[in-house]
Amino acid sequence: DSDRTGERDLLDRRAAAFATVQEHYYANPPRIERGWRHHLLSTDGRSYLDIVNNVTPLGHAHPRVEQAVSRQLRRLNTNSRFHYASVVEFTERLAALLPDPLDTVFLVNSGSEAVDLGLRLAIGASGRRDVVALREAYHGWTYASDAVSTSLQDNPNALATRPSWVHTVDSPNSYRGRHRGPDAVRYAPEAVAVIDELAAAGRPAGAFIGETFYGNAGGVALPDGYLAQVYEAVRRHGGLAVADEVQVGYGRLGHWFWGFEQQQVVPDVVCVAKAMGNGHPLGAVITSKAVADRYRDQGYFFSSTGGSPVSSIVGLTVLDTLRDEDLQGNAVRVGGHLKSRLEALADRYGIIGAVHGSGLYLGLELVRDRVGLEPATEETAELCDRMLDLGVIVQPTGDHLNILKIKPPLCIDTAAADFFADTLDLALTQLGHSC
Ligand code: PMP
Repeated sequence: DSDRTGERDLLDRRAAAFATVQEHYYANPPRIERGWRHHLLSTDGRSYLDIVNNVTPLGHAHPRVEQAVSRQLRRLNTNSRFHYASVVEFTERLAALLPDPLDTVFLVNSGSEAVDLGLRLAIGASGRRDVVALREAYHGWTYASDAVSTSLQDNPNALATRPSWVHTVDSPNSYRGRHRGPDAVRYAPEAVAVIDELAAAGRPAGAFIGETFYGNAGGVALPDGYLAQVYEAVRRHGGLAVADEVQVGYGRLGHWFWGFEQQQVVPDVVCVAKAMGNGHPLGAVITSKAVADRYRDQGYFFSSTGGSPVSSIVGLTVLDTLRDEDLQGNAVRVGGHLKSRLEALADRYGIIGAVHGSGLYLGLELVRDRVGLEPATEETAELCDRMLDLGVIVQPTGDHLNILKIKPPLCIDTAAADFFADTLDLALTQLGHSC
């Protein structure tokens, strides 16, 4: 009892001192003070399977990261105006992960910063101020990245409150959008028409920004050819293609290291974060030398901690470990297994409308009926609470908060994936769902 009182007290102190615009998971959250691989441990002695932490692809408390960071902290941590090897090695390694002509790297500390800088590079290089963004998207909280974030899940007033330089195109959602299934090919010509109209009105877009695989909408792949057509249109009018790879890039999709590979395009500017640092704040923007150089007389760039010796060492260690533990391969194998388990559950539970995604970026979309696709929002919240009781941490996403986002650490094994599917099966039965 005194423990529970202590927990309540800690939550009250959190509510008093921590900006509550950022809510915590769960009404009665377990207190998590430790993690190991794809498990989280609460102070009341329970172990939870972690299905949400795409920020830690190597898993929690990875000894290689811990050792590399503590060694570097004992030696030096400073800013990247100093000359040291790790920042050079890390930028070379990042650039080598991208196709030509993307060879120039900016190092920052988060996805929001990466998107903000990515947009400013595109605006600087194109000399144009207008930006086209996808609806139902989240790109960050800084001025520019928030301006292009239209997700209603994060701000119900988002569309009405965007600045006038932001123009949005329909969410190209092939499952529940205006065009479904094979008809989803219609989204691209519609987006191209918006881009052409802007140019005709004398406001050609300086940038198009979008996730390359629709993470915020639940891991829905963009329709085939979508980015090729939209990128071509924005470039035809002198703008640049900015790819947000913050969630979907870095190997999580399994078959593709970057989401843009799935669309068979090469962006002009790529924004990366989250997985890069395994939880340590790291972000990057990778572009061509030509675009980077044009920014010189357009704005300023220096980050006090971006590319610091510690950040560079973390970045290198994460890349080494992803390679040595074949975690992208694990995303193919375990992700493929998990997806087929979830599809088998969809045959047994009518509430499962679709299983989206690739590798270890999956989305389980819950609907009240499979024809009208009415979002099962309350049921999804109830399911997440029941999953917590049963030992699994999973959360909803999408504008209707009716999609379980499944993006665990990439080290998750088949046994844990089976535990997740079995627990989902049990929870759905306990909550009275069936065919
Ligand atoms: N872009 C996308 C697609 C994201 O999902 C996020 C974070 N949820 C961001 C950008 C912003 O990243 P950060 O929280 O590191 O600022």
